[in-house]
Order: sequence, then C-alpha cells, then structure tokens
Amino acid sequence: MTPPPTYCPQCGTPLETQHDGERERPTCPSCGFVYYDNPDPVVAALVEHEGDVLLARNKGWPETWYGLVSGFLERGETPEAATLRELKEELGLDGEIVAMIGVYAFAEMHQLIVAYHVRATGTVRLGDELADYKRVPPDRLKPWPMGTGHAVRDWLRTHGYLDA
Ligand SMILES: [Zn+2]
Repeated sequence: MTPPPTYCPQCGTPLETQHDGERERPTCPSCGFVYYDNPDPVVAALVEHEGDVLLARNKGWPETWYGLVSGFLERGETPEAATLRELKEELGLDGEIVAMIGVYAFAEMHQLIVAYHVRATGTVRLGDELADYKRVPPDRLKPWPMGTGHAVRDWLRTHGYLDA
C-alpha cells in the first residue's frame, strides 16, 4: 500500500482533502484531479496437482504461513492469463483454468482478489518469489479467515469437503 500523494501528479499543486458527497478524497484545487485510491486487483490460483492442493509461502512470510499462488495483473493481461503466468513463475507448472471460484475484497491489503481453480501438470520448481510450498490433500485443507482463505473455503464447500 502506498500513502496518498502530497502533490497533484498532473500539475504539482498541493492536494487538499475535499468531501465529494460520499467520502473525503485528496483533491487538486487547481486542475480538479481526484485521488480515488481504488484497490488493486490480484489473481489467485487454487492449484490442484496430482490430487493435492499446492499452497505457497512467499519469501518474507512467517514459516507457518502458506497461501494460494497469487499476483498482480500486467497491463493488458486477462485475469486467466495472469493466473496461469503466476503459476508458471512461482511453481514452474503448466495449468488450465477449471473455473472461477469467486471475487473477494481483501480490505487489509487494499486488494480485490479474483480466484480461480486451476489444474496443473508438470514438476514443481520454486520461483524466485517463493520460500517453500506444500502439498495438502483436499480433505485435510483448512481455510484461513482472511485474503485467499475465503476462496479456499468456497472451493471446499463446492467440492463437498466442508458443510455449507
Ligand atoms: Zn492538479
């Protein structure tokens, strides 16, 4: 997350906080630029590989934290293509999109998560961004109460591993 800019990126005038009827937003009194501070879209993959679900631990995360493979979209990229690109970069696997799981607000990270169920093939090879990964059989997978954990919960429910 980046702090709001102090100066207008269009004309350099110091921004002022103005209320636009909905909420307060940094606004340029000179050219009218408004800093909306919208969340960033992020794609996430629930990766099914040889019957297990693969979870990834990013470098810098605590040793016990694992999550779905995820990442930001590149300019002009579809979310499906971004998901398969992240799968290749982070785990070295080829994959195909099975279905979209859902779209989730991740307010703590100021992100919007678009999550897909992906079936992957190949041999795992960890990319630069990951410290580790682990294989979890679906019947032992436990959702966590934030971020991509909501997608895990919905996927487990859809596939009969969790009570609705
Ligand atoms: Zn301005």
